[in-house]
Amino acid sequence: MTVSLDWENLGFSYMKLPYRYLATYKDGKWQEGGLTEDATLHLSESSPALHYGQQAFEGLKAYRTKDGSIQLFRPDQNAERLQRTADRLLMPQVPTDMFVEACKAVARANSDYVPPYGTGGTLYLRPLLIGVGDIIGVKPADEYIFTIFAMPVGNYFKGGLAPTNFLIQDQYDRAAPHGTGAAKVGGNYAASLLPGQYAKKQGFSDVIYLDPATHTKIEEVGSANFFGITKNNEFVTPISPSILPSITKYSLLYLADHRLGMKAIEREVLVDDLAEFVEAGACGTAAVISPIGGVQHGDDFHVFYSETEVGPVTRKLYEELTGIQFGDIEAPEGWIVKVDEN
Ligand SMILES: *Cc1c(COP(=O)(O)O)cnc(C)c1O
Repeated sequence: MTVSLDWENLGFSYMKLPYRYLATYKDGKWQEGGLTEDATLHLSESSPALHYGQQAFEGLKAYRTKDGSIQLFRPDQNAERLQRTADRLLMPQVPTDMFVEACKAVARANSDYVPPYGTGGTLYLRPLLIGVGDIIGVKPADEYIFTIFAMPVGNYFKGGLAPTNFLIQDQYDRAAPHGTGAAKVGGNYAASLLPGQYAKKQGFSDVIYLDPATHTKIEEVGSANFFGITKNNEFVTPISPSILPSITKYSLLYLADHRLGMKAIEREVLVDDLAEFVEAGACGTAAVISPIGGVQHGDDFHVFYSETEVGPVTRKLYEELTGIQFGDIEAPEGWIVKVDEN
């Protein structure tokens, strides 16, 4: 380790690391990509990514294990999701091999910045795919940039897993019924800034969005999926075409079923039936698992397990998931990709 950072107190902030990956797409194909020290993107002022939101992103982490090695968690799943997002926005797919090898190259080149095992920190990787070039009409770009930069990020929960409260509101939607809710695109986030700011001003961590068509069903938090635990030991997570399919969520569904002996169910979750859950949480790569203490909906305030303590099932899921990610617990086949250093 040649750099010294305050590993225990990293937040979630951009840090300009030595290397990032960059590849360009033109003449109908991906050109040879590679690592670069240039942290500035050079693109036309008319790029469709800037004007019409023809862009997509991903988020995944590299983990330092007890023996000092570095590993990725299910990067093939991020590659496949980026391919589905690319299809939705008429962008070229980044092949899975190219995506995974680029993630490995960025983690390897910046390995001094992968936080030590035991600090809870990780190296966050941010793949980005943008439509560029001299086009101003509303149509897909001819040229694209695919880049991956990285930054060390801290343990989300400094004082251990702590629940926070969320706001369920009827005023704003993050996505339309047949829009881009299931695609990981910046536009969904632009739409969530205003309601998110409102919720934070009221003292909530974030908004829980309802289904945009009827406002009767729970969808997700703006950057994490929702799950609930019933008193019958079921792990339940909402199903809807406008939810972003979280890889963390699908991993938890699998672990609840195969490792914790629970019944794992994707189904509609009515906002009027929240009393069926004895625990609830938000899950995603950045948040890992964020226990939900209580939710405000109109004049109603509903507490799941406790506003101050994390429930036992949420804790078990957290320990199983992070144990696998940091290499302490055996992973289901294919979930871990080693980054060999040289
Ligand atoms: C990325 C994202 C998530 C979490 O997905 P993971 O694959 O678990 O990181 C959830 N909701 C939205 C809207 C997202 O963009």
